[in-house]
Amino acid sequence: MRVLEDTSMTAMKLPELFGSQVFNEDTMKERLSSASYGAWKKCVTEGTSLDISTANEIAEAMKQWAVEKGATHYTHWFQPMTGVTAEKHDSFIDPVGGGKIVMEFSGKELVRGEPDASSFPSGGLRATFEARGYTAWDPTAFAFIKEGSLCIPTIFCSYSGHALDKKTPLLRSMDEVSRQAIRILRLFGDKETRRVTAQVGPEQEYFLIDKELYNRRKDLRMTGRTLFGARPPRGQELDDHYFGAIKPRVAAYMKDLDETLWALGIPSKTKHNEVAPSQHEMAPIYTDANAACDQNQLVMEMMKKVADRHGLVCLLHEKPFAGVNGSGKHDNWSLGTDTGKNLFKPGSTPSQNARFLLFLAAFIKGVDDYQDFLRTTVAFPGNDHRLGAQEAPPAVISIFLGDELNAVVESIIQGTQFKDAGKRTLQIGVDVLPSIRQDNTDRNRTSPMAFTGNKFEFRMLGSSQSISGPNIALNTIMAEELKQFADQLEGSADFQADLSALIKKTFTEHQRIIFNGNGYDDAWIAEAEKRGLCNLKSAADALPAYVAPKNVELFVKHGIYTREEIQARYEIHVENYTAVLSIEASTMIDMIRHDILPAVSEYAAELCDRASGKQSHGVPCGYETGTAKEIGELTDRLVNACTALVAGLEGVPAGPEEAMRYCHDVLIPGMATARTVVDTLEVVTAARYWPMPVYSELLFSV
Ligand code: ADP
Ligand code: MG
Repeated sequence: MRVLEDTSMTAMKLPELFGSQVFNEDTMKERLSSASYGAWKKCVTEGTSLDISTANEIAEAMKQWAVEKGATHYTHWFQPMTGVTAEKHDSFIDPVGGGKIVMEFSGKELVRGEPDASSFPSGGLRATFEARGYTAWDPTAFAFIKEGSLCIPTIFCSYSGHALDKKTPLLRSMDEVSRQAIRILRLFGDKETRRVTAQVGPEQEYFLIDKELYNRRKDLRMTGRTLFGARPPRGQELDDHYFGAIKPRVAAYMKDLDETLWALGIPSKTKHNEVAPSQHEMAPIYTDANAACDQNQLVMEMMKKVADRHGLVCLLHEKPFAGVNGSGKHDNWSLGTDTGKNLFKPGSTPSQNARFLLFLAAFIKGVDDYQDFLRTTVAFPGNDHRLGAQEAPPAVISIFLGDELNAVVESIIQGTQFKDAGKRTLQIGVDVLPSIRQDNTDRNRTSPMAFTGNKFEFRMLGSSQSISGPNIALNTIMAEELKQFADQLEGSADFQADLSALIKKTFTEHQRIIFNGNGYDDAWIAEAEKRGLCNLKSAADALPAYVAPKNVELFVKHGIYTREEIQARYEIHVENYTAVLSIEASTMIDMIRHDILPAVSEYAAELCDRASGKQSHGVPCGYETGTAKEIGELTDRLVNACTALVAGLEGVPAGPEEAMRYCHDVLIPGMATARTVVDTLEVVTAARYWPMPVYSELLFSV
């Protein structure tokens, strides 16, 4: 009854609540002069720049609005290459003499800020003499209030103009894909469309665990995942958690999270339990890629903050627990026009279908040509635990089209008739496609890149990563292929014939990337190898492709990254890999030495004491001596494993690429060895001696 009341109250207040902390378009319209509102609107839709008097007016209106809502500070909110967001807060306070202050905020402060940001990773882009980067307002993203601060979404650049963040290249890639897509639309006689927007809806998975238990796990605190932990008697075998009834404590959390996100204008839509115990998912309604990326960063931040209010901890790591499914993020991506068309939606007229097939062909060719780069955009140490482990797509990129769309592609390649569509050969631009239902089979779920009716779902992303990188890649790849197509078709004397030929040729040459079977099947990996597809198993294997000449060319050519920018990003990823693995190995060593060895030694000593006590009374003591012996042997093995790990850590080479390779080849196996011994010790050690909460407690206590 209470629950029902609460829900209806939320429903009533929702329209008011939604976006109440956002300086959105309606608020701007209401609070700006029509000239300034018009200038802002033009800036957003046509990319014109804002003059300083308009910026001043917007800043003043923003400040007034924020102060009315209780804000005292403002911050330029940006996304450096760490993958999280950054902010530096200044108060609005301006002294006016006599110990008095006024609340000030100028257009200059709105438009440009200078965080003393010399310690963000820059991959060598920011020489020390110009250690400060600057931030500049992204007028296409709305300012919002978070914890008493007016947050202004900004880009982050060095003084030499190099992008130091994840937003600048995303905006560049959105512009570029729009430009190239419009060239294609014009060929189909579309004169109205002025902007094509990459649209994204990211589904976010996460775990919730009890805060008190979390605090007693050094590994979770230091690395975000458990480095040890024997399988609990029960994991996800019963399949009873997925879409199961949501427990009260989790429901309260989700409600609070929804309301927090709604106030920030984030259209949180779907929530449910996921496959693993304590695992959940949230999906917003899709929006443009830039806002989706900003919003996903806020979602991750709020998931953690709201959890804290509920005595919970939200884990966003890709694999917090071995043996149960990890967390990913599904990046649903499509292209939409400002006239309301989705370019990946099969249409109902021959011309719409021809357009759809051309965009589909571009996508298929792009994913095939740049499969290695797409793989790098999801290459992080955390994600290595999932990809190819039967719980997430394999490390091989392929596209799932479903049976019906695949039949269309096949028939175009073969020039044959459809099985179910009468006796005809599909004439592109002349015939209507057979209706294509969304294929939601199990095979679909095992695909890294599935066509789901009117969008592609890129399923390889890790739960903790920024979605910016994968979307920059999808936009740019698509821009490149559309450019190639437009270059060929614009001068065509017989558009219809050339279009058909181009689509047929593209499907034929890139058919190898299409796979509609079970992606978890080992046979697919063998088959993929025969087809010549990349299988970059780990992040260490994949990352070098980031700077493969053809990939660098792609981004430089389209003005998304300069050569230096892409090299810098590569270096950051490489160094991050080594840093993550070194921290994990150090944490393991710390826990073994300070917690695990002392605990098992104490327990073994107690067993020995008891054994001798029993022995002196002639009582059998096989259990005590047997267990103590087993623990003794395991302890010796653990000491050796730990010593090897210490030596391994000391041996990390200096060169970044060598270090990454070495961490992969030496530290990972070393950590696996240590873990196996510790997990066996956990099983034989009395619960009260074990120095940390175990999986059954962590996974089943909320
Ligand atoms: P699933 O079956 O994977 O849960 P949904 O239909 O619920 O799929 O959509 C998942 C996500 O995809 C949501 O965030 C949704 O808003 C988004 N989405 C739907 N249509 C599109 C589209 N055309 N472009 C981008 N994202 C979309
Ligand atoms: Mg999905």
